[in-house]
This record gives sequence, structure tokens and C-alpha cells, in this order.
Amino acid sequence: RINSFSTAAAAIDEPIHPSIQVDHTQLLINGQFIDAASGRTFPTVDPRTGDVIARVAEGDLEDVNRAVAAARKAFDEGPWPKMTAYERSRIMLRFADLLEKHTEEVAKLETWDNGKPYEQAAKIEIPMVVRMFRYYAGWADKIHGLTVPADGQLHVQTLHEPYGVCGLIIPWNFPLLLYSWKVGPALACGNTVVLKTAEQTPLSAIYVSKLFHEAGLPPGVLNVVSGFGPTAGAALSSHMDVNKLSFTGSTATGKIVLALAAKSNLKPVTLELGGKSPFIVCKDADVDKAVELAHSALFFNQGQCCCAGSRTLVHENVYDEFVEKAKARALKRVVGDPFKTGIEQGPQIDNEQFKKILKYIRSGIESGATLESGGEQFGSKGYYIQPTVFSNVQDDMLIAKDEIFGPVQSISKFKDLEEVVQRANASSYGLAAGVFTQNLETANTLTRALRVGTVWINCYDIFDAAVPFGGFKMSGQGREKGIYGLSSYLQVKAVVTPLKNPAWL
Ligand code: NAD
Repeated sequence: RINSFSTAAAAIDEPIHPSIQVDHTQLLINGQFIDAASGRTFPTVDPRTGDVIARVAEGDLEDVNRAVAAARKAFDEGPWPKMTAYERSRIMLRFADLLEKHTEEVAKLETWDNGKPYEQAAKIEIPMVVRMFRYYAGWADKIHGLTVPADGQLHVQTLHEPYGVCGLIIPWNFPLLLYSWKVGPALACGNTVVLKTAEQTPLSAIYVSKLFHEAGLPPGVLNVVSGFGPTAGAALSSHMDVNKLSFTGSTATGKIVLALAAKSNLKPVTLELGGKSPFIVCKDADVDKAVELAHSALFFNQGQCCCAGSRTLVHENVYDEFVEKAKARALKRVVGDPFKTGIEQGPQIDNEQFKKILKYIRSGIESGATLESGGEQFGSKGYYIQPTVFSNVQDDMLIAKDEIFGPVQSISKFKDLEEVVQRANASSYGLAAGVFTQNLETANTLTRALRVGTVWINCYDIFDAAVPFGGFKMSGQGREKGIYGLSSYLQVKAVVTPLKNPAWL
């Protein structure tokens, strides 16, 4: 055997009960919990076992219509865009406080529904969500336009106004974090919202949206519809009364959503899509640090990150040492029940992703890459996969081209900067890149040459609330987070007034 995971696997046979109840499984429309109009529900599943956690209301076209009508009314007539920005900010801050107070329950729901380590949810992600809401609450009363020095006797100003009703569609890999990236700026700008959660992870968004109402959010401002993509998601994307759409998910679905928006009312669309991000280790890099960062860049969140460093490109001078150490690190990775302390890796989200990842692993082996560690299911229950490392990966192999979205590291060798730039950019994606070097010139050269939305130099996966995130090429359009994220939820109105007696002309 090339790995030694089997003894640890015994520990996942009896899943730990999260010791919470799932109280809310309905749709949240106009401040009320209601069943789907059809009365239908769908199961949400524990990825540790494949067992059903709860059945959740299955929203579709009729429910989206109800939710959009509520959001429309809250925007056109309701208090949200009309209340002072300071009051909006206060409600968002109160919500952030409440969420912080409920971190434990929320993190447990997130882990139960998604499979991510509880410690990661409780110590990293929920605090980031709280921070994001505080960050955007801070912006609410600082949004303003400009005075424009136009020719002639004119007074010209710009107003930065909310779009109206925003449709927000999120995936399952970071359910609450991505909720905060969209709901935070949308509400800070005075928009109202209909959010469609991912069908794999509906629970945490319903729970926290209830907290938002407890914090004083008026009914209709934030509506949450659980349901499937081709029904609820498509209904939201093509709705004539939705003024702005923001989508995070796969590139394939991004194209569908963009087409639906274009065919309906030409609503502007922000897209955060997939990636195949290069992690470049130069000959002068600190190899031990680079190994550790390359490891977490790929394996973080079970490898289910849009910006996973999924092409580890290593200079030939340090390649052999790097591969040996990357393999040793993967073999030490602690896989197990995500509710246990010290766990680094839980199960994949569902059976579909689990099977897809194992198929990619088989394709890596068949196409001649060297399997250094892992390669199989971890244990015998649920959707766990062994941390897998391939070396000698060639650019034309499927594992080097496709987004695997799983715990599979692909390492390959390069000779010089020119080569690595050409190979790093030879992808239809352009989300992020990591650059590992001690040489300032090399860092500058690579930073300018890489066609990606984020370059992390001697670090990776830094997600400060103020730092914009988004993709070049087929990784998306528009940016989220920071001041750039705000502009996605604002439109500009120019106001032109002739001046009778301009003293200063
Ligand atoms: P997905 O595209 O299948 O689903 C994302 C969301 O879109 C879900 O809510 C789904 O219900 C909805 N959807 C599906 N079909 C739809 C349709 N026809 N119309 C409208 N909505 C529809 O993606 P996924 O499998 O849930 O998530 C994984 C993908 O998301 C990966 O490719 C990953 O790279 C990407 N992702 C990107 C980012 C980013 O910021 N760039 C972040 C997280 C995930």
C-alpha cells in the first residue's frame, strides 16, 4: 500500500451527533416561514453517512414569484431604501452581533450539512461572515456620488443608487461565507434581496436569516428560497422584476444564468465561477513553507474551493525535494468526522462529487501521472476521500485541465519563468495564482504576467473583507468584497442642472 490511512478510518464509523436540532426548513418570504406553494420538500443529506438530516421546502417558480413580489414591495414602498443609511447600518451591526453570539449553532449546522471541519466553521468561517457584515455595515452611510466638473454653465453630480431587487444564487462549498459576500453589500446599498441557496446546503442561510429579522430587518427585504437550479434558480435568473443578479457556482451554470438574464430583462450579472489556479514554486522559494502552503491551498475545505491551488508548478531545482515533502504532508493529513477536534479534512459534499473525484483520480493513474499518496475512498462510509497527490503531471492530462473540486494535488515541473507563465496562463480560467519566491524581481514579473484576478505572493487563501475577489477569463465577471463589491450593487445616475449665475465661471 502506498498510504497508511486505514487505522484512522475506523474512527469515522460512528458519526458524532452535533447535538442541535434543525428547527427551520421552510422558505422565508416577506418575513414569514412558509411551505412551498407546491407543498413539496427535498432531503438534505449528512455527507458523513449519506443519511437524511431533514426535509426542506422545495421552492420553484411560484415561490420565486412570491419572494420577488415581496422584495419588490419592500423596495418600492417599504422602509429599506428609504430609511437612513445609518439605520440600515445599525440593523446590519445588530445582526452581526447576534450571529457572533450564535456562532456555535450556526457552525454546527454548516458542518452537519456540508461536512467541513467544525473548528474551521466556528473559528474561521463564521467569524469571517460576522466581519463581512460589519465591514459592509460600515459602508452603508459612506456611499456617495461625485460633483463633476462639466463644461459650460452646468452643475453636474452623480448619485449612486441601489438597483432594486437583487437575485442572489450561491453554491454549497461555503454556504454562509458566500451568503455574506452577496447579502452584505446588496443590503448596505439599499437593495432588497431574494437568495437561492444551494440544494445541498440549505440549512444555515435559513437559520441566520431568521436572526437578521430578529435584529430588526423589515419583512420582504431578505427572502430565502431553497430549491433546485433548473427550477428556482432559473426562475430567479429570468425574472422580469429582478434588477440585478449575482451568481457563484460552476462556469457551465454561469453561462446558463447569463443567457437567462439576457433573454429576459437584460439585468446586469456578477459571476464568480470556477478555476484551475496555478501555485508556482520558484527555485529560490523556502521549500518547507511552500510545501505547507501548497498543501493547504489545495486541500482546504476538502479541495472544494473555486480558487484551490490545483496546479502545483515546481521549479526543477527543488522539484524532487518538494514532491517528497508534499507526499509526506498529505500522508499526515488528519481525515475524519468533522465534529472531532483536530480534524483537517471531512467528507466531500455528496455522492455525485465523491464519484466524480474518484473518476478523475482513475484518469490521472491511467494517463500516466505518478500516484504518490491516497487515490481511494477513506473508510467505508459516507463521502470521504484519501488526500491524494500526483507527481509528473503533464499539462494535457485531464487532472491538469479540469476543475476536480476535491482533495487531489497535481504536481508538475518547470524550467524557467517564461515557460511557467505560458503554462500558467494556458487555461480558460483565471481566478487566482500563488507565487513562491524570495526574489522581488521574480515576484513582480509573475504578478504582471499572470492573467488572474488575485495573486497571492508567499501566502494563499487570504480573504480579508476589504480585498476584492473575482476572475479573469471564464472564471467570472465583476468583483466581490471590498469597495469593488459595493459597486456591483449600485447604479450611477447623472444629474445635470444649468446654473444661472455661476460665480466661479
Ligand atoms: P453549480 O453551478 O451547479 O450550482 C451553483 C448554484 O447554481 C446552486 O445554487 C444551483 O442550484 C444553481 N443552479 C444550478 N443550475 C442552475 C440553473 N440552470 N439556473 C440557475 N441556477 C442554477 O455549482 P456547484 O456544484 O454548486 O458549486 C461548485 C462550483 O462553484 C465549482 O465549479 C466552483 O469553482 C464554483 N465556485 C466558484 C466560486 C467563486 O467565487 N468563483 C466560489 C465557490 C464555488
